[in-house]
Order: sequence, then C-alpha cells, then structure tokens
Amino acid sequence: MNPLPHQTLEAEFRTQLQDYGLRHDPVTSLPNHTYFRKLVKTMLAEAANLNQEVALLWIDVLNLRREYSIGGDEGAERLICTVADSLRPWVESGELICRYSDRCFVLALKRSEITDARLNLIVEEASHLHMRGSEGKPEVAAGVAFFPSDAESSDELIRFASLAAVSASRTRSRIAIRFNPEMNATLMHERNLEKDLRIALQEQHLTLAYQPQIDLMTGNILGVEGLTRWNHPIRGPISPAQFIPVAERSNLIHEIFTHSLRQALRDAAAWRAAGIDVPSVAVNASPANVRQEDFVETVERELTAYPLGPRTQLDIEVTESLLMDDEALFVQRLKGLRSAGVNVSLDDFGTRYTGFNALKGLPLNTMKIDKCFVHGVNRSAQAQSLCQTIVVMARQLNMVTIAEGVEDVGELRALKNIGCNAGQGYLFQRPIPSEHLMEFVHNWPEIKRSGHFVDTFLDVEVDPAYEIDPLFGVIPA
Ligand code: C2E
Ligand code: CA
Ligand code: CA
Repeated sequence: MNPLPHQTLEAEFRTQLQDYGLRHDPVTSLPNHTYFRKLVKTMLAEAANLNQEVALLWIDVLNLRREYSIGGDEGAERLICTVADSLRPWVESGELICRYSDRCFVLALKRSEITDARLNLIVEEASHLHMRGSEGKPEVAAGVAFFPSDAESSDELIRFASLAAVSASRTRSRIAIRFNPEMNATLMHERNLEKDLRIALQEQHLTLAYQPQIDLMTGNILGVEGLTRWNHPIRGPISPAQFIPVAERSNLIHEIFTHSLRQALRDAAAWRAAGIDVPSVAVNASPANVRQEDFVETVERELTAYPLGPRTQLDIEVTESLLMDDEALFVQRLKGLRSAGVNVSLDDFGTRYTGFNALKGLPLNTMKIDKCFVHGVNRSAQAQSLCQTIVVMARQLNMVTIAEGVEDVGELRALKNIGCNAGQGYLFQRPIPSEHLMEFVHNWPEIKRSGHFVDTFLDVEVDPAYEIDPLFGVIPA
C-alpha cells in the first residue's frame, strides 16, 4: 500500500481532531452533551430490543462555583477532573459517561449490572475524594431515573434524572435519589408559583405584616419585624415558607428584599407622622440578597429615599449560612451595613451553628434564638440550658438576645430568668398589618400591666440621663 502523502494525512488528522473537539469536553475528554444525546439514543434502542433496563445517573457538582471563586479556572478544572476520575472506572463497555454541562455529569448504566448499593457507592466515592493539591472535596447531588419504567424517551429520561438530582440537592441527600412523578408535579407547581409571584410583585400584591419585639424586663416595645405576606387572588394567603424558597431559587428574592425594605421604611414614616416612633424596624434578607454586589448600596439608596426619624433604627436580619459559605464576603457586607448605620441581627440562631469563634469580632447587634429552642423552654431542662448557653455566648459577643416564637407566659418567665433580653411571639402579638400595629402600640402599655402579664414586667425607675418614652420606655435623653 502506498503511504498517504504527508499533506493528506495532516488534513485528515485535523478533521478528526476537529470532529473529536466537537464531540468531547476539552477539560475531561469525556463526550459532551450533544454527542451523549446521540449515543444514549442508540443505547436505549438496543436496550429496548433486548428487553433490558438502563439506569441514568445524573450527578451535579454543587461546589463548582465556590471552587471557581477560590481557585479560578484552575480550581474549577481540578474539581471537575477529580469527579470525572472517580466516575470513569464505574463505566463498563457498552455503557456511557459524559460531561453534560459545566457542573454535571451523566452516566448511562445497564440496570442488570447495577444495584442501589452500587449507585450509592458511585455517589459516595465521588464526594469522598480529595482534590489534587487542595484541601477541597467535591460536593455532589445525584438523581437516577430508569428506562423504560420511569421514562421511555432519552430526553425525558435525562430530564427526570436531573429532577431527582434537584431533589437530592435540596434535601442534601448523600445518596442517589430515585425519580418519582411527584417531582415533576412539584416542579410545575413551583413554576406556576414563580409566575404568580412575579405578577404579585408587579401588581403590588405583597404586603408587610409587623410583629413587635418586647423587652422582657420592662415590657417595652423594642422594635418590630416586618414579614412579607402574599394574598393570592385565587389561592388566598400563601405562606412565606412556601414562596420565599421559590423566590430564592429565582431572582425574585431581590425584588422582595427591596420591596419589604421600602415598605418598612414607608410604614415607619407613617407611624412617625402619627406620633409613634418605633425604636427599631427589622426586615429579613436572604443569603442571596446579602451576596448581591449592590446589597449595601440598595440599603443606602432606600434609606436616602425614605429616611427614618432620629429615634428609629433600621435592622436587617441575616442568617449564618453566608458566613459558612463565604466568610470574607459576609464580613464585608456586615461592615458595609454597620457603616450605613444599620443594625444587623443573626436570625434563626442555633439552627446551623457556625461556632463561637466564627462570630467573634463580627459587628453583629442581635442574636435571635430560634423558636425550636424557645418552644417549651420552661418544660425542658435541655432547651433551658441551650437557651442559657446562647444568652451567655451572646453577651460575650456583645450581642442582645431576642427569643423567637414565645407562645406562653411560662416560656416568657423562663426566658427572663435565663437573662434573655427580648421576646417576640404569638403571646405578645401575631404579625399584623401596619394600621393595626399603630393600634397595638397605643394599647400595649395598658395590656402589659393586665391579664396574664400582671406582675410580669418591672416599672422602670427614671435615670436623669435617660428619658422615659410613654410608649417605648427608656431612651437616652
Ligand atoms: P423568621 O424570620 O424566623 O420569622 C418568624 C416566623 O415565625 C414568622 O413566620 C412568624 O409569623 C412566626 N412566628 C412568630 N411568632 C410565633 C410564635 O409564637 N409561634 C410560632 N409557631 N411562629 C411564630 P412567617 O411570617 O410565616 O415567615 C416565615 C419565614 O419566612 C421567616 O422566618 C423568614 O425567614 C421568611 N420571610 C418572611 N418574610 C420575608 C422577607 O421579606 N424576606 C425574606 N428573605 N424572608 C422572609
Ligand atoms: Ca426574621
Ligand atoms: Ca427567625
């Protein structure tokens, strides 16, 4: 056979390379999304002929973005290659693996060879490997769907496995979650909720309800927390526990934050015009809000547009989760808020405890003890000592404590004995619209001395350096 001329060989090589490049992911050399979809169609057709089942395993790499923030492209590639290396050995001849998108891998495995235990082992191994030259470990969420029992087409099979992976990442499952049809229904429901929420924001159907925060010594109102309310025109009131997570998964959470902040500032102005200075007005910020580049600027802008009176303080409630994910960013945002004259509360404290050391030196003002510790605090020695520890810790950190979800006088007394500064809960008042809050503030001095509050609160002595506000108690003169 005559050797091919040099030029022809090179041209052929180039074409082959180009073809390969079009079909493979440059980082892992695994088939890419387009090529995989072609291959999996053939695999399913063959499986159908032989009456075989195929398991489609979808693996999301959850910490890719974080690795990228820390180590740039190199860090991200290292993470992806670590996961790819751990997955490859599980794939046998006639089976498939691909890098389906930036942060996800898909494996098509023969069902006869694969047990649930084996699937879970694949997932477990992928998340237990250390990355080369780094402290990091991959964090993965996995979902699985079966052909033909869950889906009969390749497109649906892939989509269903991805839905199962979404469910795995939400529940932080460490095993592969199997698809079930309800996941599809949930997603549809969520999509409708998101659509309606967008309309509700445009048409101003969201409102704020306020819940007072009461000083446990004096019974004075220390402030109020604004909580978003949505009255759906057809479905009626929808709980924030339902729509806030949906808003957090879309960009609507930013509009909700600006809306609630603006509304709270406007309402505070209306209260002031009616002669009521609420000492502190709090709004909630989700981790995604705090992360937002212009978060502090947004707060400053709204404060300039809707200024508070000299006797009212803005408070923003944040959770510990951003502190855990990105400490530097969290600290930067806290400092920004504090220089803008805003107080910061740590909400739901104790539910995802980050540790005393992480909190030391942070410019936080208030620690809100989560209601799960407050509930039955007078009946459980364990809850009591937990609350006490939180109070002691908060004091060492120079923070005020507010107990959330105080529902009865027993809990109130126990919290007072522990030394907790303030309480918020149905015992004092459920969250109410702005107009009703004015009424509450007006009636509270009477209520706090009567009924089940008799002998609960101290009547404070007047110190000449302070003046007593008829409604809010002791304020520096
Ligand atoms: P949260 O910030 O911890 O707010 C306290 C929740 O506890 C509120 O639920 C309040 O109605 C409820 N609560 C108050 N007192 C009691 C009590 O004595 N017993 C019990 N069992 N519950 C009590 P809500 O209004 O349903 O809000 C739920 C969560 O939704 C809030 O928890 C907050 O995380 C979130 N949320 C509400 N509005 C907003 C918002 O505008 N932005 C963001 N990012 N999140 C919000
Ligand atoms: Ca809150
Ligand atoms: Ca809370």
